[in-house]
Amino acid sequence: MHLDQIDHLPAQLSTLHPDALRSVFPNPTLIRLAGTRPAPLFLSVLLHGNETTSLDVLKHLQRRYETAPLPRSLMIFVGNVWATERGVRHMPDQPDFNRIWASGDTPAHALARQVHAAAMAACPFASIDIHNNTGTNPVYGCINALRPADLHLASLFAPLGVYYLNPATTQSIAFSKLCPAITLECGRSGDVEGLMAAVELVETVMRLDRFPDRHPVSHALRLFETLGRVDVAADCSFCFGPGHAALQFDSDMEDLNFRLLPAGTCLARTSEARLPLTVRDEHGTDLTRDFLTVNAGQIRLRRDVTPAMITTNLLNIRQDCLCYLMVERDIPTGDPSV
Ligand SMILES: [Zn+2]
Repeated sequence: MHLDQIDHLPAQLSTLHPDALRSVFPNPTLIRLAGTRPAPLFLSVLLHGNETTSLDVLKHLQRRYETAPLPRSLMIFVGNVWATERGVRHMPDQPDFNRIWASGDTPAHALARQVHAAAMAACPFASIDIHNNTGTNPVYGCINALRPADLHLASLFAPLGVYYLNPATTQSIAFSKLCPAITLECGRSGDVEGLMAAVELVETVMRLDRFPDRHPVSHALRLFETLGRVDVAADCSFCFGPGHAALQFDSDMEDLNFRLLPAGTCLARTSEARLPLTVRDEHGTDLTRDFLTVNAGQIRLRRDVTPAMITTNLLNIRQDCLCYLMVERDIPTGDPSV
């Protein structure tokens, strides 16, 4: 898997459709652009091929800075060009490009190591990884450290933030060891609100000389913490709305995203005697019995939680997960070196 390296934004970007991406980026590509402030802002785009807001952010940068100087150097990783061409999250014979940023022996893992090493050598100012959801979700940022700078990144992007450590193999977890890092969840691909928020954050961070060293005030950000991720058993059929599957969810399940669900809420119905959902933390520890119970075919919550990233896209659920379960937490105060 070859990494192309270039020092400009190709002019053809302005009219580029995702399915023609490889006419401009035949391989994953690292783009280095020199700007007024030398420490680069690292941007990660198209790690998931069917999440195209990041391509629209690139188009904005190409238009805006075609002749004007960049306020800060940029280092841009264009990730899964093959999946983008096909409009899918990742190709069936490839790993998920946002799960390759820890140890692993596939060509994609080697590519991620090469990109990470290049970024480390450049001492990045911050890292922004741009994604979309397939389900109905508000615009929100995900961070992996509770440092003031990371919290500021989140509050600059949206009033909702998520702190997570699971999955542990994402780009933003790896880059949070190098610099303040955030994953942007920009709603569905094509949503204007998410695109505008992403563009505004990139523009703001390019012009920041430094991050404030105090935590943002708590009313600037509602922060949730992910406790576990929910998967459907691989051998269990499932559907949303009426159907004959062994596991049935309501068709309007996505409306539960970022809503506080009290203990006792029914999440699904099943014809199986077992519980065909699992909840695991970032270490793979099985937390299912802490969160879920099955009784008379009804799967109910055992405790109050707020779900996020519920999708009704069956392929995404098989390739990724059903959702994450979160609790709201206070913004840290006191010693900002936490
Ligand atoms: Zn994504």
